Amino acid sequence: MSYTKAALARLATESRREIGLSDSVPFDPHLWSKVFGVPFVSLQELAPTTTAVDHFLRDRPERWSAAIVKNGSGHLVVYNNAHAEVRVRSDLAHEVAHLVAEHVLNASWRNDHNCSGASKLQETEATELAGALLVPVSAARMHAVRGGSPDALALKYAVSLEMATWRMRVSGGEIIAQRSRARRA
Ligand SMILES: [Zn+2]
Repeated sequence: MSYTKAALARLATESRREIGLSDSVPFDPHLWSKVFGVPFVSLQELAPTTTAVDHFLRDRPERWSAAIVKNGSGHLVVYNNAHAEVRVRSDLAHEVAHLVAEHVLNASWRNDHNCSGASKLQETEATELAGALLVPVSAARMHAVRGGSPDALALKYAVSLEMATWRMRVSGGEIIAQRSRARRA
């Protein structure tokens, strides 16, 4: 199954509503975790089992973000808590996106540490859906139409400046704003 961008935007809005979040507040991955019963475990919490930490960090720890791990009949998400808060939120939203989109977690992927075992299509969908979870498409568009700055959007949704800039760019809002300025000129 694959999703259109519009379907992913709707899925993001539905997922936010399911945990009681409107489009005007930051996404809360930990709340999602609680509501859906998918535990999030940081590497720090795993620390007593050094082998587990070594396992996840063996390879370029600064780049390692998070992974979905099979947990009985369900899943859990292991994440690297050493990154900046906005990065952690983004990493967690990415894993939430895979789960919300019900991407098939095949054996090779479960053992992988950077989602690279998932198909390219699934990665693209998860990236788009995570972006829409973090900054709702309609909110990014409205902000851009009104000529808001990426910094203000980043602050409002607790995301990186890079994320806010990307969401505004793909929302189509800047084009709408340019056209309306051109009409007025
Ligand atoms: Zn992924």
